[in-house]
Amino acid sequence: MAILVLGGAGYIGSHTVYELIDAGKDVVIADNLETGHIEAVHPKAKFYQGDIRDRAFVDSVFEAEQIDGVIHFAANSLVGESMTDPLKYYDNNLCGTKVLLESMVAHGIDKIVFSSTAATYGEPERVPILETDRTEPTNCYGETKLSMEKMFKWTSVAHGLHFVSLRYFNACGAHVSGSIGEAHKPETHLIPLILQVPNGQREFISIFGDDYDTKDGTCIRDYIHVTDLAQAHILAMDYLMNGGENNIFNLGNGVGFTVKEVIDTAREVTGHPIPAKVTPRRAGDPAQLIASSDKARSVLGWNPQHADLKEIIETAWNWHKNHPNGFAK
Ligand code: UDP
Repeated sequence: MAILVLGGAGYIGSHTVYELIDAGKDVVIADNLETGHIEAVHPKAKFYQGDIRDRAFVDSVFEAEQIDGVIHFAANSLVGESMTDPLKYYDNNLCGTKVLLESMVAHGIDKIVFSSTAATYGEPERVPILETDRTEPTNCYGETKLSMEKMFKWTSVAHGLHFVSLRYFNACGAHVSGSIGEAHKPETHLIPLILQVPNGQREFISIFGDDYDTKDGTCIRDYIHVTDLAQAHILAMDYLMNGGENNIFNLGNGVGFTVKEVIDTAREVTGHPIPAKVTPRRAGDPAQLIASSDKARSVLGWNPQHADLKEIIETAWNWHKNHPNGFAK
């Protein structure tokens, strides 16, 4: 009996596979390799290349393998792209999940752990954000993830699906071994972009606005190590296996850092001056996003092990300095 990880060649998916295998689980991966990397696939996982929008492909995996539960990362996840190409997000994220659920129902597979996002909240009513707070996404990416959550809810009502949705805040860092890490093209995330400066690939880092209502005027985010996120997926699957009810959990450290604080910490870690320039705000960026993760801690027993920002950036730097071109040779 195995866990099927959809999108297991991507950033958070590959780190989750590493943790599942360390925990002694059998893992099957399906990934279309559109944004994932074959090099990120754990050698002990069984790999199928294919797309979740392809019903025949998804059926063939469920027929070939004994699957206990599904962890679903297979989605597009770039906020900016979702605003210029929203239908791509409806197609891959929503149509893909619809096909997946049809196939799961047909094959009697009733457990899914889902990769959701803080972008489901939009501009927060308050921080720290609770799972019961208003969800009004300000971008199409967050909208599709929220709709996917609702698809699970109604599939549960009709067909008895059991689901956990994990709403991540800012995923970052890399596996402590240095063998896998973040490799997006194009890269849009703050920490890998900052580290391109000491890596000689970028002259300076842009600070997107310094006139927010925060302590130094720059945006505040809750940065959470990718391995801690990975652990939460294992706990969530165990929770469902033990009969846990459908649930939604925030995943973050509950501590916010400004963009300037992140840059300062990267300077400390790398020993590089990392020049920074203030540029206009990026559209759709809320001033502050900080998670309340009390529910994940109390219900799932989740206990992040890499909460220190310096340690997070050290693991990221260890990956990026040794893999300046990501997985490309
Ligand atoms: N950011 C920035 N410069 C960059 C990239 C990001 O100032 O080159 C800021 C961005 O405005 C946000 C924070 O860094 O406040 C984190 O952005 P990221 O894209 O990493 O994650 P998001 O919070 O959008 O999920």
